Amino acid sequence: MTNLNLLIRDVPDFPKPGVVFKDIGPLLADPTGFAACITALATPWRGTAIDAVCGIESRGFIFGAAMALELKTGFVPLRKVGKLPPPIVGIDYDLEYGSARLEIGAQGLPRGARVLLVDDVLATGGTLEAGRRLLETIGAEIVGAGVVIEIDALAGRRRWPVAVPLRALLHC
Ligand code: 5GP
Repeated sequence: MTNLNLLIRDVPDFPKPGVVFKDIGPLLADPTGFAACITALATPWRGTAIDAVCGIESRGFIFGAAMALELKTGFVPLRKVGKLPPPIVGIDYDLEYGSARLEIGAQGLPRGARVLLVDDVLATGGTLEAGRRLLETIGAEIVGAGVVIEIDALAGRRRWPVAVPLRALLHC
């Protein structure tokens, strides 16, 4: 059994001093590890009715699209500003410094669609929260969220509703 923790590289002082960046590059490059990761991410959701996996740009696309194939659902991207053709629905959210925006195609999901939200890392929780709010705006029903890594010390989980399952494969 592959120890996935060994395939995550800690990069000190990236992207700025004092931050330890979790680099998923070695995990993606390892065929056994990557396959094991996708299986482990998808398995808890088998049997749950899901219409689409929504991945957050950009690393959420990698894991989300692979999970969608495993779960035999569609994949809908939540994109950064200016990437999608109209019509779109967007949401602005705050970052530690400044702000950002996530967008979705307005016709990408019917109201009431049951979606699983996916990203690579849960840090402060702002990005996942923005994804959830955007999906709620368009009337989707969020059945849960999945991330590869949860950085426990940053307590991003506090920004996620306790009633909605949020599953992290690895904790650090
Ligand atoms: P948050 O909004 O939870 O603070 O940050 C999560 C978002 O930033 C995710 O979309 C993720 O891709 C990115 N991110 C934050 N920290 C890291 C990290 O250490 N490693 C990687 N790969 N992504 C990170």
